Amino acid sequence: MKLLKTLTRQAFHERFPDADSCYSYLASIKWKQGYTCKRCGHSRWYAGSKPHSRRCLQCKYDESPTAHTLFHKLKFNLHTAFLMLYEISTSKKGSNSIWLAERFGVQQKTAWLFRQKVQEAMESSRQYPLSDHVHVDEFEIGTPQPGEYGRSKTEKKARVVIALEYRKGKPGRGYAQVIGDYSSGTLIKIFDDHIDPTAQIETDGWSAYGAIKSWYKGIEQKLSNKGQNFNMLHIQIRNLKNWLRGVHSFCEAGYLQKYLNEYFFRFNRRNNRTNILDRLMERIVATQPATYSMIRARAA
Ligand SMILES: [Zn+2]
Repeated sequence: MKLLKTLTRQAFHERFPDADSCYSYLASIKWKQGYTCKRCGHSRWYAGSKPHSRRCLQCKYDESPTAHTLFHKLKFNLHTAFLMLYEISTSKKGSNSIWLAERFGVQQKTAWLFRQKVQEAMESSRQYPLSDHVHVDEFEIGTPQPGEYGRSKTEKKARVVIALEYRKGKPGRGYAQVIGDYSSGTLIKIFDDHIDPTAQIETDGWSAYGAIKSWYKGIEQKLSNKGQNFNMLHIQIRNLKNWLRGVHSFCEAGYLQKYLNEYFFRFNRRNNRTNILDRLMERIVATQPATYSMIRARAA
């Protein structure tokens, strides 16, 4: 029997038929380890006045399952948010904000902001560094100048470093980071954030990697040979670029890192699509809500 790799649309709708089922689900994740009052730390509660909310027996603080999560102050109903999350996390390409806005009848800016918040939850926890064999390479990608939209002729190039793991000859997980330059001080960040110090690492001949060898002994430098040595890595780079251009047109340089995070959040769970939505929900519940101005400020 073929293993079920996707949470099917039908299974999703059976699990989340209405807003109540969504609130109930969030409550089950939020208080999985037991209830503690956010205000006074008391551990006993009774049912509050909002859907599946819990009211502290001591100080009477009534906490909704959505409070202190990315769903806080949502501009549309929770069921719609779940439907959008299904599309974002399970569709191979991840849906863009224009499509989401049309499909679910919300303003594009609203869909865009929601997507941005979801991307914050998709950022790597840095707890599971790449191991075994890891290939590291750099590439450039065009981004429009600030204030311009669509396919700009005066695009700037953003530099990106990518690390991809190989296990038994097959691509495993990967990460990418936007970098300001190609110095060892800049390039080492992806090693420190995402690569296990014991990994066997292949890079191109660029001298900055030589300087990183003191910390990452497994580095072996190979001449790029027009991409021949990093064939599988270049396929991934091409897929990533196609996704950015095809699904999101272009994105401003300030937001590029978040799209890279989103791409690899899905890529790293591509063989586990049945519970990708649950993993994302757990992160959403644990992530502090960001406002539009906070998101703009971070991208600037
Ligand atoms: Zn309390």
